[in-house]
Amino acid sequence: MLGLAPLLLHVAVAPFGVAQERARQPNVAARKAFTIDADYPGGNVRVVRREGDTFVVAPDLRDTQPGVWWFYYNFRLRGPAGQPATIVFEDRNPIGVRGPAVSVDGGRTWTWLGYEAVTESKTGSKTSWSFPAVVPLGATEARFAFAPPYQQSHLREWLNVHQDNPALKVEELCRSRKDRAVELLRAGCLDESRVKGVVLLTSRHHACESIATYAMEGILTAVLAEDELGRRWRKQWQIAALPFTDKDGVEDGDQGKNRSPHDHNRDYNDKPLYPEVAAWMKRSQSLGPKVVFSLDMHCPYIRGQWNDRVYIVGGAKPEFMEREREFVTSLARVRQGPIPFHASECYLPHGVAWNKTANYAAGRSNGAWSRDAFPDARFCGTIEIAYASALGEEVTADSARRFGRDLASAILEHIER
Ligand SMILES: [Zn+2]
Repeated sequence: MLGLAPLLLHVAVAPFGVAQERARQPNVAARKAFTIDADYPGGNVRVVRREGDTFVVAPDLRDTQPGVWWFYYNFRLRGPAGQPATIVFEDRNPIGVRGPAVSVDGGRTWTWLGYEAVTESKTGSKTSWSFPAVVPLGATEARFAFAPPYQQSHLREWLNVHQDNPALKVEELCRSRKDRAVELLRAGCLDESRVKGVVLLTSRHHACESIATYAMEGILTAVLAEDELGRRWRKQWQIAALPFTDKDGVEDGDQGKNRSPHDHNRDYNDKPLYPEVAAWMKRSQSLGPKVVFSLDMHCPYIRGQWNDRVYIVGGAKPEFMEREREFVTSLARVRQGPIPFHASECYLPHGVAWNKTANYAAGRSNGAWSRDAFPDARFCGTIEIAYASALGEEVTADSARRFGRDLASAILEHIER
């Protein structure tokens, strides 16, 4: 018996060893098969280095002024389904408060991975942040981004639903520097003889601020809806909307904030650099006193006090302050959607926190221009819509759209006052 033991052991070990070897082979192949790229509209990533299935990546700041850091990334992982690759950011953390946004349908829809998926590691003075990235079973890729992107393809999908609506008109405002068509959407009362006032909406002066465009889409949907709110809008009010002010930045995947030499929201000067801004100023100013309201829609910084909420940014002109407060009060009162908005916590008057004159030294902003151009308008200013979390509530494409409907209610109440 004793003499047989080594033989039995050998027999027992051999199949296990073979199985182990077979299992190892596909893993070696799989490791080679993972790829990361950003070669699609809105894509942005810099692969710093790769160690096996671990990718050290960073936001690609190609458009940005030297020395400025921003947090936009949007990349695609391709490779074997069901096995995790590890994504690592070093030195600065560009992951928002709900973790990365994830898409498994080619960037059409997104969910939050959750910040609990993120691991913070410290080695000496170096800090890194990582999360497991998985291509789900049955899929060939997954995308990961700072927040749910809103690209030309998203606008196209919305237009496919609404483009035959007689209360919507899509025009070309101008061509971008790279010869892309820049959309101008007009919605509501399109009979010029009946229009009592025009509401101007803009987003993506900073290309990465996608949640603002989901909210803009929500406003436009409300204006076109077959209900009481939509009918009141269409009776005598018109919206002129510029969803992609920095069209090239949006489609090329630039982050766009503090773009070199100045960004689109510091370009409202005598000689604008960007054709979109020049065309928007010219067209809007041709409407003169018909402009009753101008709202420039943004997303704030990555996280922290003012960045985890929706708020109105007050302008420097005292004559607009009372009108701002009235609009803030209206919005707080009519809000029905899931994104909170409280008059006491969601208004940043001029001179408070970052909202100081020094912040606008690089050039005139859309808000400042609109207050100069339309002194009698009921409101001219800026809203910041949090990327991921608004006073604790989850921000998603859908909740941002529903906030857009709240904005449509509040704007209407404010201009009919
Ligand atoms: Zn912005």
